[in-house]
Amino acid sequence: MNFASNDVIIIGGGPAGSTLGSYLSMAGIGNMIFEGANHPRPHVGESLVTSTTRVFREIGFLETMEREGFVRKYGASWHAPGGRSFAIEFQEFPQEGIDQEYTYHVDRAKFDLLMLKHAESLGSKVYQGVRVKQVLFDENGFANGVRVQVGGAEVDVPARMVVDASGRETVLGRQLRLKKKDPIFNQYAVHAWFKNLDRGEGEDADYIHIYFLPVERGWVWQIPITEEITSVGVVAEKEIFKNARTDVAEYFHHHVNLNPDLAHAMRNAVRCNDFKTEGDYSYSMERFVGDGFMLVGDAARFVDPIFSSGVSVALYSARFAAAQIAEAYATGDFSQKALMPYEEKLRNGVEIWYEFIRLYYKLLPLFTHFIQSKDYRFQVLELLQGVVFDRKEVPVLQAMRDYVEKVEKSENHLFKDRLTAIPID
Ligand SMILES: Cc1cc2nc3c(=O)[nH]c(=O)nc-3n(C[C@H](O)[C@H](O)[C@H](O)COP(=O)(O)OP(=O)(O)OC[C@H]3O[C@@H](n4cnc5c(N)ncnc54)[C@H](O)[C@@H]3O)c2cc1C
Repeated sequence: MNFASNDVIIIGGGPAGSTLGSYLSMAGIGNMIFEGANHPRPHVGESLVTSTTRVFREIGFLETMEREGFVRKYGASWHAPGGRSFAIEFQEFPQEGIDQEYTYHVDRAKFDLLMLKHAESLGSKVYQGVRVKQVLFDENGFANGVRVQVGGAEVDVPARMVVDASGRETVLGRQLRLKKKDPIFNQYAVHAWFKNLDRGEGEDADYIHIYFLPVERGWVWQIPITEEITSVGVVAEKEIFKNARTDVAEYFHHHVNLNPDLAHAMRNAVRCNDFKTEGDYSYSMERFVGDGFMLVGDAARFVDPIFSSGVSVALYSARFAAAQIAEAYATGDFSQKALMPYEEKLRNGVEIWYEFIRLYYKLLPLFTHFIQSKDYRFQVLELLQGVVFDRKEVPVLQAMRDYVEKVEKSENHLFKDRLTAIPID
């Protein structure tokens, strides 16, 4: 292996790492991606939001998305346990600069491999099956390389700067003890793929379907992966899983049957891979930048996946990080201070997702109410499509907060007993 010390080292070849590699190569900045796994490898996070299209187009990846025939996602549908449901279509609110009325559902094994190959085709030097053990720092505290595991040996690789895109492994966050568990959310997910799930015949057959469950912060995703295969995941507070004291299969099916619409859709479904579980996945790093390093995607921050925000955040954080790195190369300043604007931009954007998610869980009927409101529907749609960055104001969030306050103060509001204990100040 031939390593150049002026390159940017990217830890992880998931969507964040591959996108960053692509943008850096396009800017003429050498970069290496170390990916611990060998792609294709399975991964959770299969439904995208429309804002991702902009990034795909910018890095020249949109043609690949179209060519590979990923399922087109034109909208989203929510189902309450009592049988009521409502839907949105992305074409109702077109985003500036995005001329497609749909986004995609993806088999992440295939999608992540294609993205990594795309980064390689643009110039990233990609090393698969090479795990980063730790980030190295010079005597002034600047990140200046990584130690990787290659077969049985450990090798130190020099770099101009290091970007952690290792996802929920959070290599650098763990090394520097930057990780702060989310004070509110402690969700747990059990998911698998199924054949013969009845998605219906209507135009919403290929939407993402979210089924509400009558348990704390409980919901289920239904995501079409191919014409035959559908991904289904049960999400709820981790305590609920712990207290259930059953195995994952029983836990999964018990919860599926709590929503009649879902139970109906699943009546003939046959599981076609193993159940997987995901826990402890809401957190933030104390900081996203330091001298000579940056964190992107899940390695920086993870918010609850109820609105399918993760891949979009991964792509946009990479896009912003690449611009910041280009500036660092131009000025020769790779200090934490110089990299800080990236952190602010990412933190503010993800905070909007977080606030939206918090309000959603605070009072479920609030979301239903606002998405059906003549005044606010477009604003909710805007958020659901991932328009969260570079925004100073999001009036619908303030309106939601005001509404919660009204319900809290009222003696006998219809939604009073639906309020949860989540703090929203
Ligand atoms: C239950 C659940 C449901 C979700 N649903 C959705 C959804 O519907 N839509 C959505 O957009 N998002 C969803 N997400 C979020 C989504 O999975 C992530 O936000 C997204 O994958 C982040 O991309 P990333 O590139 O930052 O990290 P990852 O995709 O995790 O990629 C990180 C890569 O780094 C590699 N790596 C890790 N450690 C090392 C190391 N030491 N050395 C080298 N390589 C390493 C890994 O092998 C991996 O390939 C969901 C998440 C969860 C938990």
